[in-house]
Amino acid sequence: MKGQKTCAKCQTKAGPRTKICKKCGEHFVFKFRGRKVKTNELKDWKSLKRGDVVKSIQGYGPYWINEDGERESLGYYGLFKVRYVEKDGIGAYPYGAKQRHGGFHFLYMGKEKESITGGISRSHKLELVKQ
Ligand SMILES: [Zn+2]
Repeated sequence: MKGQKTCAKCQTKAGPRTKICKKCGEHFVFKFRGRKVKTNELKDWKSLKRGDVVKSIQGYGPYWINEDGERESLGYYGLFKVRYVEKDGIGAYPYGAKQRHGGFHFLYMGKEKESITGGISRSHKLELVKQ
């Protein structure tokens, strides 16, 4: 059967659209089907121009330590279209249908430092999206 998958936990076969294994209750992970975005390493973010599309990599960017001592990310991830470049980062708008954050964003790209709000300003990691 085309698209059939096998439960990773109990090896039960399931149909392509099954979300939860009927035998053991394991949740199936759906593979990302969308077109994979091709990116180039971005050596100098200051060379970005208005209209360039960048991908912000998860796991970077500013964060703060919550009451449980856990690191909580304050960064923005996904695709962004550059509007302008300034001293400490870039102003950008979310790009593409997958972006959940609407509106204008400032992606911090400066040196790591403690911010006035108590968090840690750490630079985002950007890759240049090929177009
Ligand atoms: Zn199962």
